[in-house]
Amino acid sequence: MNNRTLIKTFSGIDTADGDGVKLTRIIGSPQLNMLDPFLLLDCFESDRAQDYIGGFPEHPHRGFETVTYLLNGKMRHKDNAGHEGVIEPGGVQWMTAGRGILHSEMPEQENGLLQGFQLWVNLPRSAKMTTPRYQEYQPETIGVEQHLNGTCIKVIAGETDQGTIGPVENDYVFPTYMDVSLSEDGDFCQAITEGHNAFIYVLEGEVAISVSNESKSDNNLQILTAKNLGILSDGEQVQVINTKKSSRFLLIAGKPLSEPVARGGPFVMNNEAEIRQAFLDYQRGLF
Ligand code: FE
Repeated sequence: MNNRTLIKTFSGIDTADGDGVKLTRIIGSPQLNMLDPFLLLDCFESDRAQDYIGGFPEHPHRGFETVTYLLNGKMRHKDNAGHEGVIEPGGVQWMTAGRGILHSEMPEQENGLLQGFQLWVNLPRSAKMTTPRYQEYQPETIGVEQHLNGTCIKVIAGETDQGTIGPVENDYVFPTYMDVSLSEDGDFCQAITEGHNAFIYVLEGEVAISVSNESKSDNNLQILTAKNLGILSDGEQVQVINTKKSSRFLLIAGKPLSEPVARGGPFVMNNEAEIRQAFLDYQRGLF
């Protein structure tokens, strides 16, 4: 098996969205506009209420999916079709906006730590106008794989090499979304379908990506530090080795759609005419 290697790293930009929510935009930034099929990755992490209390008041989406993975705190989600719920720590909401949704995402807390990620996953032309759909998973419904060496893998989407399957269904980009914790001597090896785009985002600690399947000598290791996203080359698998006391990272991958992408704020379509139509439909209250 040939290993995927680090080809570029990004730390993202500090910005604000919604009603003043401070976040780091790692994909969807001037440095990394997209990594097909991923359009955006935001990381929010603050224990200061003023950084998040404004939340994301009502706004529309069309043409893609939003994936919220919460690590700490709670978020209340509410849409114009009467769908409402609270995302708990460790919980995931995979929302297919499809032809249109109008929703709000608000912190369900007035103090304490709020930490999580929002990922935007593009939809193919054939599914951009599909019926909106939710896949919501409480933490206890997410597959967990515990290895003897301390490696712990939470599987939101995809399948580990040992057969633990994540609950998310998606036949558009066949995503992998894993939250991996490594202990001092921990390592992690995972097959990733060839041709899928893949990246690692390090939450805590530091990891090394092994360039060679045979040799783990220092000159065959590429270091990725906390709060950085590393894009992986194509290949059959990734091998990750812990280098500090412990580390935690996300491994995310998906099949590129290789279609034209037109962006208009909360709408992502294939061309500008479809973006104009989305704004018109929104203004006419058709969402
Ligand atoms: Fe939203």
